[in-house]
Amino acid sequence: MSTQYKPAIHFQHVDYRIGDLEILNDITGSFPQGRITTLVGPSGAGKSTLLKLCNGLISPANGEIFVKDKAIGDYDPVELRRMVGMALQSAPMISGTVYENLNLPLELQGQQLAKEQAVELLEDVGLKGDLLDRKVKELSGGQRQKVSIARTLVNKPEILLMDEITSSLDRASKLEVEELISKINRKYKTTIIWITHNLQQALEIGDYTWVMMDGQVVETGESSLLEDPQNQRVNEFVKGVVS
Ligand code: ADP
Ligand code: MG
Repeated sequence: MSTQYKPAIHFQHVDYRIGDLEILNDITGSFPQGRITTLVGPSGAGKSTLLKLCNGLISPANGEIFVKDKAIGDYDPVELRRMVGMALQSAPMISGTVYENLNLPLELQGQQLAKEQAVELLEDVGLKGDLLDRKVKELSGGQRQKVSIARTLVNKPEILLMDEITSSLDRASKLEVEELISKINRKYKTTIIWITHNLQQALEIGDYTWVMMDGQVVETGESSLLEDPQNQRVNEFVKGVVS
């Protein structure tokens, strides 16, 4: 990584196990602050597991994770969740209105989201403010995904973790969500860590890329590495031999 970027998150010799099963093995590396890092690798490589370690949903068996230079275990869990937001492929929604869904993170903290703020969040993700009182079940898949991203933005996270958020979207919605994430990255300098199985997407939207295989990080660097990987297995993966 170029030395001009500070790490937003740093892994140092991190192992993760479930029982005797080694899921992640000796992960060391950084996610640069204010940049978009794409995380790619075959299914089962450990990408989602690594993301869950980043916001303390799960904890390492060995090693240390630092978020903005502070050991993850030294954070108050509520503070950590506020700072590190996470969006998933199919975000769970409550059955009410768009507003009720946007208000959920604050409601859980005993607060309430102002209507003007809710409208601003919707506009931030390219939706019209008048959607606020609509039932989420009336929305299209793309609109729901945008509401789910807006909900992740309620706490103004400095770091956004995204796990295959465009996988179930049609092409037009996928492009809109990509554009939206780039916009959030530019506007708020949000650090983005984006898991995708779409290598073209990883190359186009990423500044930086991590390639994972079999619970290990096998190659990292500027996203252009995907055009000409140095590692033989990464080369085979990119060429479609491994999927
Ligand atoms: P990816 O997101 O790259 O597809 P995951 O992080 O979901 O990979 O999973 C990595 C490996 O860990 C896989 O082999 C998966 O089967 C295993 N795994 C993940 N979660 C569990 C679990 N709760 N119990 C058992 N095995 C798990
Ligand atoms: Mg996964």
